[in-house]
Amino acid sequence: MSKTKHGAGKKSHAGLFERAKRSLAGGVNSPVRSFRSVGGDPVFVKRAKGCKIFSEDGRRLIDYCCSWGALILGHAPDVLIKPLKRALERGTSYGMPTAVETELAEMIVAAIPSIEQVRLTSSGTEAVMGAVRIARAYTGRDKVIKFEGSYHGHSDYLLVKAGSGASTLGIPDSLGVPQDFTKHTLVVPYNDLPQTQATVEKYAKEIAAMIVEPVAGNMGVVLPEPGFLAGLRKLCDAHGILLIFDEVITGFRLIYGGAQNYFGVTPDLTCLGKIIGGGMPMGAFGGRRDVMAMLAPLGGAYQAGTLSGNPVAVTAGIAALKCLARTRPYAKLARLAQELCAGFKQAAEASGTPVEINSIGSMFTVFFTERKVIDFKTAAAQNGALFRDVYHGLLERGVYFPPSPFEANFISTGHTKKDIRDTVRAFGAAIKGRCQTQVAF
Ligand SMILES: *Cc1c(COP(=O)(O)O)cnc(C)c1O
Repeated sequence: MSKTKHGAGKKSHAGLFERAKRSLAGGVNSPVRSFRSVGGDPVFVKRAKGCKIFSEDGRRLIDYCCSWGALILGHAPDVLIKPLKRALERGTSYGMPTAVETELAEMIVAAIPSIEQVRLTSSGTEAVMGAVRIARAYTGRDKVIKFEGSYHGHSDYLLVKAGSGASTLGIPDSLGVPQDFTKHTLVVPYNDLPQTQATVEKYAKEIAAMIVEPVAGNMGVVLPEPGFLAGLRKLCDAHGILLIFDEVITGFRLIYGGAQNYFGVTPDLTCLGKIIGGGMPMGAFGGRRDVMAMLAPLGGAYQAGTLSGNPVAVTAGIAALKCLARTRPYAKLARLAQELCAGFKQAAEASGTPVEINSIGSMFTVFFTERKVIDFKTAAAQNGALFRDVYHGLLERGVYFPPSPFEANFISTGHTKKDIRDTVRAFGAAIKGRCQTQVAF
């Protein structure tokens, strides 16, 4: 366990969590933070810099959650601090247009060719809600196809077989969502083109949109099989269905632009979030000009937000994207991820533990399973007990993974080769410790 020099003022996480639970429902403001699926008390963060989290109980942790992928530049990057300070001094919200909103919109439009126009929101959930609404308005149809294990935010009609948070907690369908609200949501397995085709053909004239994560990140990382995304594009074209790419994770994660640029498949609409807010609350949806014209005040589809296009969040987004455009860290991040995953694989093999590691660019998931992971079913077949043990073994050794076996891990520009080596060493020890514990029992 790594300790910081400044031991004074240390607070136990158990105590902080107890206190939190008295006034916050479940002690958290988003369920996966609660450590339900790995057990124990969540880590309370005091501050963070680069790839390091400094916890309230005085530990230093190498972070692979990175605010669920939002922090591709790591925590508190210098390039954001000055612009954010200046933005704060100019005012935090006006509820009136600003030039900086246009600047961010122009950057998004320039980076992702399929996006002719964009609207900014305050979260990825809202971005998806807006995209689906205008798709329904444009097509005059009601039904939406989503893929099992994909998460598109917590709106009622998309909380069906929705990956990480919901799967982790064993509530794939949330309470409080009327059946009537999900009856237009059709769910098919990820990477299963024949079944998607069968579903499309069955409901052809009723389907407004198909929404897909071009790389699934909410059942752990699952890559699209060759031809899957292009196949969806063809199906949509054949039936007048709008294709929506939910790039809340993948936008500006794999390259400067969308995963759509990376894979060469063009959606009609795109949802963004996480990275484009530079760590501030932000989402965006955009796409074809004729579809975006459905949106009020141009058209009859209503969508709004008091803090949408918030000047502080927009300033953070611009600074983050400018830095990514200038430095293009993607190849370097991918190399670090490859080194890390190779180290994991080696350590797992040395201990005789079967693992499947899915990775692309700077995102990855280690699945404790012998079978290739290509969809939710194969992701769910992993060894959850082993994940929990290794999870806590890593945490004890100063490595923070997102606390669920159904999550993507992320590498940021704050991670160094040394961090990667330290993490591989911790992983090796954690997995070995697990095996020894088993033998001892
Ligand atoms: C995180 C996420 C969302 C929801 O974004 P929020 O900002 O949490 O509302 C939507 N889609 C995907 C793919 C995500 O990973």
